[in-house]
Amino acid sequence: MLVTLNEVLKKAHSEKYAVGQFNINGLSWIHAILIAAEKEKAPVIIGASDRMIDFLGGFQTITSMVKNLITEYSITIPVVLHLDHGTTVARCKQAIDAGFTSVMFDGSKYPIAENIRLTKDVTDYAHAHGVDVEAEVGTVGGNEDGLIGNINYADLEECVMLTKETGIDALAAALGSVHGNYQGEPVLGFREMAAIQDAIQIPLVLHGASGIPPHQIKRAITLGHAKINVNTECNKSWLTAIRQALTENPDTHEPQVILEPGRKAITATVQAKIQEFGSTGKA
Ligand code: 13P
Repeated sequence: MLVTLNEVLKKAHSEKYAVGQFNINGLSWIHAILIAAEKEKAPVIIGASDRMIDFLGGFQTITSMVKNLITEYSITIPVVLHLDHGTTVARCKQAIDAGFTSVMFDGSKYPIAENIRLTKDVTDYAHAHGVDVEAEVGTVGGNEDGLIGNINYADLEECVMLTKETGIDALAAALGSVHGNYQGEPVLGFREMAAIQDAIQIPLVLHGASGIPPHQIKRAITLGHAKINVNTECNKSWLTAIRQALTENPDTHEPQVILEPGRKAITATVQAKIQEFGSTGKA
């Protein structure tokens, strides 16, 4: 069943666990994530990054794939279909019109007044259509599908202003996390995190969770993170399994022989993350 972000985040936020957002890079990812969440009896968020939408066949195709797989595999857990890092107001509206149940507008590259103005535009449209909204303040570092940023800590006052003036449902307050690989141990701003959570009270979103050790993930959840985004770790498990299948089957030209282990590897990684985030059995 497709549900909105609030339908899964409110409970997670009050009970102090997090719902995983797992990014999709093809049909196998959707299939793998749904099976993993169903096995764990956990709510789940399918994340389609704006920069991947055309590669994945467009907004309508993604919605159809997700809905059809839910039906085909008799998936019973709540599933949120979320636009990750929406680049423009128009793209967020397109996702909403195509049936996405949650959108992120990433206005973090704009000065705060412009970020607020554009986020409010998205939020007004989304809420009128029964869809929830995530916004971003500060900058997540690293490189995600061509989105490149240097770490830039979210400012407390800006988080408060944006949350109050737009009515968003969740906030990605960038505090040292990075998309892709970390150089050494991640350094998250826990003191700033506590202050921001205290001031805004709505669920926080942790981007760039791949490579963040479990003790830091647990602390982030305690400090208000109810949505945690994972992409790189699923892709790395997929690649390792595909490489192994290629090595073990040098003479095959059967795509299924090569690709099936990749899908199974994603399922295993998603299950492990769901357990780590504490959302097993919360569907
Ligand atoms: P990672 O690729 O570092 O897991 O980040 C995912 C993410 O934050 C998607 O928005």
